[in-house]
Amino acid sequence: MATKETAAVPTREATKRFLVDCDSCSYERTADGREEATRIGADHRRATGHELVALEVPQSVETA
Ligand SMILES: [Zn+2]
Repeated sequence: MATKETAAVPTREATKRFLVDCDSCSYERTADGREEATRIGADHRRATGHELVALEVPQSVETA
């Protein structure tokens, strides 16, 4: 009959942490998820014209 659709794990898999690092200045930001990282990078780039790289931060031991 009706299958229960559980939204069990919403965004856990997708939420990776990124370090947005600027090549041209000391700008550095952490972001939750690729979209956020892209947004931050685009923001800084628009403001400064700098080129940024987003590095994925490995999920280390985090106190839950
Ligand atoms: Zn910069």
